[in-house]
Amino acid sequence: MTLRNAVSTAIAYGLWPAIFASCIALNAQVMQQEYAFLWFNLLYLGLALTLFTLEHLKPFERSWLPNDGQILTDLSHTFFNKGAVQVLVAVGTVYGAAEALSPEASAIWPTQWPLWAQIILGLVIAEAGLYAAHRIAHEWAPLWRFHAIHHSTRRLTVINTGRFHFVDTAASIILSQPLLFLIGAPVEIFKWVSAITAFIGILTHCNVDMRFGWLSLVFNTPELHRWHHSKKLEEGNRNYGENLVIFDQIFGTYFRGDYRPPQDIGIHEPMPDGFLAQCIHPFRKEKRGPEMSGAD
Ligand SMILES: [Zn+2]
Repeated sequence: MTLRNAVSTAIAYGLWPAIFASCIALNAQVMQQEYAFLWFNLLYLGLALTLFTLEHLKPFERSWLPNDGQILTDLSHTFFNKGAVQVLVAVGTVYGAAEALSPEASAIWPTQWPLWAQIILGLVIAEAGLYAAHRIAHEWAPLWRFHAIHHSTRRLTVINTGRFHFVDTAASIILSQPLLFLIGAPVEIFKWVSAITAFIGILTHCNVDMRFGWLSLVFNTPELHRWHHSKKLEEGNRNYGENLVIFDQIFGTYFRGDYRPPQDIGIHEPMPDGFLAQCIHPFRKEKRGPEMSGAD
């Protein structure tokens, strides 16, 4: 192996952990600031711009680089649907949880554990709900109609990370947050879980040439998520994990092909192009069954 190849391999393996670790370290600083929510959004924007730049310097799939005509639609979903629902939930969680949870209610949460261990516990508990929500969105026709908007994209890039119908976003939050509430997780853990979900989420869509090794056995990496967007259901109805893939491993929905994931991704059913048309599309009459009935 030449030195050039060795450096290139080291960068490919090091990028994901380096970016993720930087986000964690910066988020620890952000959470101590007075205007933490504002700083968090700046950190997230910085991450998006970094990944966008890397997509053009070191793309995984060159055919996904050109504008697909969906940028305005993708960004509208991000700001008006995903963003708005998440802000509502964030405000509701921080204020609602702080006021609603009495010290007794959180007595079962292991506050004596080190912070990192509490965060891992929070991630695992949240993941149970996120996994269930995502799997139901694929396997139950009424929810698939909404989730199909996310899967109708023909390319994966940071730009369409937030391409979610608001019903889809709300359903996923409703199914995932109560578990943490019930077990009495402190607000700080909610904030950490939300931040890590945002970091791993935007990383899964980035079109950057990276390699993952053992990380794909634990985390939902871009490699695993590219399979999840495959048109072939035996590849696409897999890897439902949001942050961790432990439940995919446990329930047999984990998939990691030993060949290159497809560049021709998406769904087989029709989907309008415009933002508003996509918002009302799932409510319209000619409803199709879930992907399971219409694909290869
Ligand atoms: Zn999905």
